[in-house]
Amino acid sequence: MPKNKIQFQKGMSLLDFNKAYGTNEQCAAILFRFRWPNGFVCQKCGHGRFSKLKSRNLYQCCQCRYQASLISGTIFSSTNLPLTTWFLAIYLITQSKDGISSLNLARFLGVSANTALRIKHKLQQVMKQSDDQLSLPGIVQLDDAYWGGKKHDGKRGRGATDKIPFLAAVSTNIQGHPVYMRLSRIKSFSSSEIELWSQKHIRTDSIVVSDGLACFNAVKHAGFLHESVITGGGYESVKIPVFKWVNTILGNVKRSLHGTYHAISQKHAPRYFAEFCYRFNRRFRLGSMVSSLACAAINSKPIPQHQLKLAEEWW
Ligand SMILES: [Zn+2]
Repeated sequence: MPKNKIQFQKGMSLLDFNKAYGTNEQCAAILFRFRWPNGFVCQKCGHGRFSKLKSRNLYQCCQCRYQASLISGTIFSSTNLPLTTWFLAIYLITQSKDGISSLNLARFLGVSANTALRIKHKLQQVMKQSDDQLSLPGIVQLDDAYWGGKKHDGKRGRGATDKIPFLAAVSTNIQGHPVYMRLSRIKSFSSSEIELWSQKHIRTDSIVVSDGLACFNAVKHAGFLHESVITGGGYESVKIPVFKWVNTILGNVKRSLHGTYHAISQKHAPRYFAEFCYRFNRRFRLGSMVSSLACAAINSKPIPQHQLKLAEEWW
């Protein structure tokens, strides 16, 4: 059996991680470059020279003495955690194929379960915002999917009760290989929601393929070429080649989320989906995911606690 290119690719070893991000000074220097890529500029007077204050992540302007904090106004603010803890969290979340539960994260980081959960939700939000900027290119396979619900309600799929409906989209290239994926929690499979969603997340020159569910016709109203394949439903439909990737990936995501998290609340589902997609969409760049997520995080606005609990941004 040929080796799977992704499973056997070299990620970042713990030893390499420690060499690159083992001290607060190293982490601060890296975040400094990501926050001020063109060099430090004082936000009060525009002066470019500064001195670093010892033992704190503060940089003092040499002209007006204004003290700029490296992390204020970013996702890292309002915590007293060392930067090394944040970076270790980023490492553990990005380098594990199926993610890491907040309880496990708490053990590895040496923080409380609540702190670990807050770190995780904040980083998941950064992952979501990063992927929100991606527009799905190529041939986009769309499918309706469901998460959770009662185990023994005797109903499956579209008729099941208590399940979270979500839209699964996989974009494939001309060779038929998957490029990107997006899982979006939606309110219902209505034409209006599908139309708005596709305008926001699919590149204008893409072609959309879906099954015969009526709401998917709405992508035509959004201006996309659309092919509807009548599958007949049920488990036979998963064998149809045109839906190969969306079905394979849906199977993987369900197995992975069930294995790592057991239960995901409805309101937080979008963030867990986003975390899975973020890793998938960067699976060929496993090693560099630590620095790219750190860069996205230092350039992300803080999330207040009440917003962290709500998780209202579904798509
Ligand atoms: Zn200044």
